[in-house]
Amino acid sequence: MTKSSILGYPRIGADREWKKALEAFWSGKLEEAAFHTRLQEIRLAHLRKQQDQGIDLIPVNDFSYYDHILDTAVMFGIVPKRFTYDGGAVPLSVYYGIARGTTDAAASEMTKWFNTNYHYIVPELNDVTPLFTENKPLIAYREAKEHLGIEGKPVIVGPLTFLKLSKGYDKSETEAWIDRLLPLYTQLLQELAEEGVQWVQIDEPVLVTQLSETDLQLLQKIYQTFSAEVPRLNILLQTYFESVENYSEIIALPVQGIGLDLVHGLSANLQSIKDFGFPADKVLGAGVIDGRGIWKASLKDKLALLEELTEFVTPERLFVQSSCSLLHVPVTTERETKLAPALKSSLAFADEKLNEIVLLSKACTSGSTDLLAEIDNADQALLSLQQSEERNRIDIQQAVASLRVQEPERSLPFAKRHAAQQEKWQLPLFPTTTIGSFPQSAEVRKARQLWRKGELNNEQYANFIREQIDTWIKIQEDIGLDVLVHGEFERTDMVEFFGEKLAGFAFTQYGWVQSYGSRCVKPPIIFGDVAFVQEMTVEETKYAQSQTKQPVKGMLTGPITIMNWSFVREDIPREHIAYQLAYALRQEVEALEQAGIGMIQVDEPAVREGLPLKENEQADYLAWAVKAFRISTCTVQETTQIHTHMCYCEFHDMIDSIQAMDADVISIETSRSHGELIHSFELNTYKLGIGLGVYDIHSPRIPSVEEMTNMIDRALRVLDPNLFWINPDCGLKTRGRDETVASLRNMVDATRVAREQY
Ligand code: GLN
Ligand code: ZN
Repeated sequence: MTKSSILGYPRIGADREWKKALEAFWSGKLEEAAFHTRLQEIRLAHLRKQQDQGIDLIPVNDFSYYDHILDTAVMFGIVPKRFTYDGGAVPLSVYYGIARGTTDAAASEMTKWFNTNYHYIVPELNDVTPLFTENKPLIAYREAKEHLGIEGKPVIVGPLTFLKLSKGYDKSETEAWIDRLLPLYTQLLQELAEEGVQWVQIDEPVLVTQLSETDLQLLQKIYQTFSAEVPRLNILLQTYFESVENYSEIIALPVQGIGLDLVHGLSANLQSIKDFGFPADKVLGAGVIDGRGIWKASLKDKLALLEELTEFVTPERLFVQSSCSLLHVPVTTERETKLAPALKSSLAFADEKLNEIVLLSKACTSGSTDLLAEIDNADQALLSLQQSEERNRIDIQQAVASLRVQEPERSLPFAKRHAAQQEKWQLPLFPTTTIGSFPQSAEVRKARQLWRKGELNNEQYANFIREQIDTWIKIQEDIGLDVLVHGEFERTDMVEFFGEKLAGFAFTQYGWVQSYGSRCVKPPIIFGDVAFVQEMTVEETKYAQSQTKQPVKGMLTGPITIMNWSFVREDIPREHIAYQLAYALRQEVEALEQAGIGMIQVDEPAVREGLPLKENEQADYLAWAVKAFRISTCTVQETTQIHTHMCYCEFHDMIDSIQAMDADVISIETSRSHGELIHSFELNTYKLGIGLGVYDIHSPRIPSVEEMTNMIDRALRVLDPNLFWINPDCGLKTRGRDETVASLRNMVDATRVAREQY
């Protein structure tokens, strides 16, 4: 009757065995044949889990050797010309070359997958003629059937989404490209149909974004072609991450099923179903279980929603699904032994979500009551978390309530602050500084490990950190930098470090998710009211300042970045979480100021990541994100200089918001955007202090004085020299000591050249 399904399962494995296998292969420790065997074991184990749980429609081909967009590109022979390839199945060396670069060819660009923290490899279409290399979905389907008797549901990326995420062609050629790809897709689907595949899931997440008339026509063309050429196959056209923009056009397409996100796009999608109905001949893939959040679902509410849906679709035409692939959540809560019981029993990672989906589909089918116990369990867990002390900090809630109605503002406008700060700091023209971190050498990591294991005591570790600070303060003075930093040696990660010291956070032991390639992140969980508990950065910063006459800049991670790089509670709006974080950080800013630190940087590299996909929701998000930053920084004296830093993203369309943050100085990544950014700042007449990154820290190459001088010259053609700072693109923690010192020396030399010319 009602079937259960997921859209994809995490690749990495409960113990990151997938990551370990990839890295062992790359470093030559695992032979190619053994590597394939290992990945097959992992893949089959994941399928078996779903089978054991009782998932009816198990996805296949969601597994990847790196990234599913890259898989789609190489399946169609789309290999950039700089790699050696002449037809046939793409060898692993070429595949990983595109993903990671080789000694003679640069990697393809990688970028964020919609509004998630997953990054895909951007296909490059220029100068390639697509061809069909091998039917990876078919291979995956056969494997599941042969080994486990699973009737799998191949997952493929749809043509419109694939093209829209690719680059290297002019938008006017979109239709020509669709015409080129359609025969290949058709062949792929025909082979699946001949094999007896029943359902195929075609992912078209671009359907939740704004589409043009032409896009809609192309969509028609694509799915009409499939239906004419492969009539026997059932296609589930899958969307996710938001509500669809063109509901009535989409449900009219000649496909057998439509998958909708009924978590992140719930109200709009549900409204569309009510307004326009749902076609009687189609299956509704009801994405009711959150594929991105980590919390248990209230099964009672979900059941009510499913019941509501059965007014529009019969139960046998309803698939109970995850809202998107489970790629975005950790594998299982089972191995977590250190979480508080109330918290642990409120969490559902991928495996726990499988269970929820199966329970719900059974409940739809039989209306059975044996699920009541489970439903009760989940509700009890969520309730006890809700009633916990950590979620009921009246002091914090009151503070935030009053912050919400205030307009956080510095005591003086920028022009006046700037004059006061110049008077106090007497900085030279084009002050030089860095972004915060210095190399996290093997020695630094080792010391931290020993301390965590208890082999170094607190005092020994603190001494070690102080030695590192001493060394790098001397290095910075010797190089001739104007504003120094302590180097962040005590921090592993810019979010975890603060989360560990604030109330309201929890940390998992194994809660990893894939970020890009083999790179995984383990986001903290913000489960309670966030509160300042103790000073977090004062000691190290104060110590650094005591060792030099130059100003030392304090270094904090901003509220929005902490929030966007964590899993967060869902019982209060994100806006309120941001204000709680801002309020806690404000107390740290004030403590630093009290301790005599007169320049404080609050990093916000992740502001853009939280930007809603729907254009009409973006302004609101940006407004409260800016407000959160201002809450954390507005109470300092006018002579205290607030810095911020941003990187990793496009800024040109959010300069107004950056300006509204009202930081005295922003340092910003530019070297990879080739000066385009400078232009946007000019157009927007940015009127605050600004340091454009003059070199790319992602490469070990030492930039020459000349190239940095050029960069500075170009910027000074449009920016006010009196507001201009000179710094690298980002923190230097991943770089070696020698290259860091050499690069910074050149940067200071380039600054001298620029100062002479002015
Ligand atoms: N202050 C941080 C550092 O230098 C900033 C990191 C970032 O922008 N991602 O490491
Ligand atoms: Zn950065």
